[in-house]
Amino acid sequence: MTRNSSEMVSGNVSNSNLQEGNASDLPKVLADENRPKCVICGNVFDMYYDDEDGEFMYRNAMEIDVELDDAAVDETENVLVHFTCHKRLGAPAILSSDQLLP
Ligand SMILES: [Zn+2]
Repeated sequence: MTRNSSEMVSGNVSNSNLQEGNASDLPKVLADENRPKCVICGNVFDMYYDDEDGEFMYRNAMEIDVELDDAAVDETENVLVHFTCHKRLGAPAILSSDQLLP
């Protein structure tokens, strides 16, 4: 098998095919139909069936806690975000609600 390494893309990657080449390097989480979207960018996760795990997974996704400012008590909620979105925010250990989409 030969790899198509001559097709080096230089800067003009189409968004839909982003990360196609090294998707397996990205973290994944178990697909959760109640949390289909990244709370940072609002885009739906890329779901696929993982043969090894025998489960549907979200690609390029991770779980993180978000601090709920408007809650009376210090409360956190567990949300799903894109790994790349989280990285873009500087990879904080916990999100604050102003980093989320309204
Ligand atoms: Zn995102």
